Amino acid sequence: RIPLLAVDGGGTKCLAVLMDQSRQVVGTGRSGSCNYQGIGVEAAVRELKSAIQQAQEQALAQGQDETSTAPGTVWEVECAVMGIAGLDTEYDRQVITGIVQEVLEQLSINVQHLVVENDGFAALLGATGGKPGVLVIAGTGSIAYGVNGKQETSRSGGWGHRVGDEGSGYWIGKQAIMAVLKAADGRGKKTALTDLLLPYVGLNQVDELFNWTYSQHYSIEKVGELSVLVSQAADAGDEVAIAILQSAGDELYLAATAVIDQLGMKEERFQMILQGGVLQNDERVRSSIMAKMSSYAPEVVYEDAQHDPIYGVIAQGWAYLDRQP
Ligand code: BGC
Repeated sequence: RIPLLAVDGGGTKCLAVLMDQSRQVVGTGRSGSCNYQGIGVEAAVRELKSAIQQAQEQALAQGQDETSTAPGTVWEVECAVMGIAGLDTEYDRQVITGIVQEVLEQLSINVQHLVVENDGFAALLGATGGKPGVLVIAGTGSIAYGVNGKQETSRSGGWGHRVGDEGSGYWIGKQAIMAVLKAADGRGKKTALTDLLLPYVGLNQVDELFNWTYSQHYSIEKVGELSVLVSQAADAGDEVAIAILQSAGDELYLAATAVIDQLGMKEERFQMILQGGVLQNDERVRSSIMAKMSSYAPEVVYEDAQHDPIYGVIAQGWAYLDRQP
């Protein structure tokens, strides 16, 4: 019997953690994105399953006393909290609940209390411990989520790679490809991004880069990875890269302020949590949000301790278990 299974299923990676009664991690597993909007339902089942299965196998290898090692045994999990990217509408909730149930069934896991939420929402509630807060994620995808003193919640942005996710790694990577094409056909400034992007995707010509975007090698994660090159180019003074990151910061700030306005938190004291690869790795984007925010919502306090969304998901799980008799 395992008390807690926590899953952070983001657009970059899916991380699963199993914890025992003494709150020790007994198994972790990691796989790729499990956002069904990007990779489809079948692949989402595969990725989610792979992460949880690895955690299960590790827990078995650790030889937990409480854990039966006989094959085919049903695992009893008291509480499972899963934050899954791509849970944006009621329709998504149905699809993703189906994905989760299929995975649990395939792995013979029986969960007593199951919480399936959007990744940002799940991370936020645990991270703030119920206090007012705003979480901005900019990883492969992006979203802003908030909770106020009345426990009302609200979201902004995060409408996926096709028509949203402004300021995310994917969005920055896409802007970079567009900038390279613009520079090549004379509509845009020359940019160092050309010489950084081409070798990264293993190409020589700009034409090939264009064809790559319609090829089987193209992926949302790969485009998201290009954001690291944009940061590099910006550090070296490339104006095009600096402008892309500036607008990424503007977009994420906009999403955060939309949430703050919807929840009437402007004058309140609240925690702000900045997570995801872009916000962790690019000081420029981070500080541009923080600089503008300090005059918009002067009571904001930055919570830097918990860099990874999984900590919030785990905390939410324990908060539930602690309330149980
Ligand atoms: C998804 C959201 C998710 C966000 C952050 C977006 O692509 O549509 O559901 O919360 O990424 O991972």
